[in-house]
Amino acid sequence: MKRLPCPFCGSSEQEIYDLYYDGLHVLVFCKCGAQAGSAEDEEEAIALWNTRTPVKSQEIPMESLPCPFCGGQEQEQYQQGKYFWLWCKCGAQGSHAANKQEAIALWNTRSRVITLSE
Ligand SMILES: [Zn+2]
Ligand SMILES: [Zn+2]
Repeated sequence: MKRLPCPFCGSSEQEIYDLYYDGLHVLVFCKCGAQAGSAEDEEEAIALWNTRTPVKSQEIPMESLPCPFCGGQEQEQYQQGKYFWLWCKCGAQGSHAANKQEAIALWNTRSRVITLSE
């Protein structure tokens, strides 16, 4: 299955990770730090990664935009050590940042290559 570029940074360089905890979890991980939700096999993981929900408004920069994958508005802000990032309930994560505002800005970054016509 063809993988779409990252909705955040526009890069096509992602890796497929196999994680083992309570069974196998496969997920697509971008070099910018973004990742989609995990699935049971690679094809399903890529399907999750390829899911794109267009975002209409970018008017409120300091609030998080809906998830580019599932379109959900419910993201949680996580902090680990000195890193902040946003985590959607679908399992997608934004890139890690040094503070909350930056984490939201990274999450809100939308690559111009987002398209549903592929
Ligand atoms: Zn990326
Ligand atoms: Zn989501």
